[in-house]
Amino acid sequence: MPSVKGFAEGDWALEDADYVIMGVPFDSTTSYRPGARFAPGEIRKASYNFETYNRRADVDLKNVPIADLGDLEEYGEAVSMVDDLEELLSPIVAEGKTPVLMGGEHSLTTGAVKAVKPDVYIVIDAHLDYRNEYLGNPHSHACSSRRVADVIGPSNVFPIGVRSFEKKEFDDAVSHKLEWFEADQVRDTDAAGLAKRIIGSHERAYLSIDMDGMDPAYAPGVGTPEPFGLDPLWVRDLIRGLSGSIVGMDVVEVCPPYDNGNTSALAARLIREFLAFSWASSH
Ligand code: MN
Ligand code: MN
Repeated sequence: MPSVKGFAEGDWALEDADYVIMGVPFDSTTSYRPGARFAPGEIRKASYNFETYNRRADVDLKNVPIADLGDLEEYGEAVSMVDDLEELLSPIVAEGKTPVLMGGEHSLTTGAVKAVKPDVYIVIDAHLDYRNEYLGNPHSHACSSRRVADVIGPSNVFPIGVRSFEKKEFDDAVSHKLEWFEADQVRDTDAAGLAKRIIGSHERAYLSIDMDGMDPAYAPGVGTPEPFGLDPLWVRDLIRGLSGSIVGMDVVEVCPPYDNGNTSALAARLIREFLAFSWASSH
């Protein structure tokens, strides 16, 4: 375990747990503001701020089998982090457990998706993250959706909340027929309805939440803040709508050196919302 306590209510043994929390303190491909490596510890601390009972889900997280395995070791190279994460999570997924990862930066998602093998990948992000490489690195945080598309196909990748595009990644996304939902398109729509539409007949979804998908007013402590973003209430409703189908999730890009505490608190609360609604949907 790291120096801080595990995620609140995450004290079950691995063999008894249905949900497996892990921190991935990796930020060495960060392009603007580094510091995401400190996020798992801050999100864990923030998780103690909340009551264990979720009144809307009617679930007390004290009764939900959650194990926090601590942090993956720190890495210099994204490719070895991605490979190790896949190797570590694969047997956990094979036992039917749901991994819940705390970044670190967005590059970790590829390793998790390779282990989880979802039918559908839904990602909240201000950025398309569809570059084939960034600063010479194909595992950069700016390539996360592209790498996931390599694994499960672009037709199964759905970025939501996007409002920042590099021209070449935009052209690639169009030619790959990627379907994305820009922040302006979705903010006045019903999040649960969109969740249902994207899931369609699929059963296994992976949800990745890049915290910069939400507006910097709500989530100021991120590596690459982008104005005009989503409201956390909308994202919460999306989580509620999706929870029954989510078989793996992550929350990435919290950057504590730039945070006033709200971003870590929001990240912890979104994870707890998922845990409560996921458990409610299966019990
Ligand atoms: Mn991202
Ligand atoms: Mn982003």
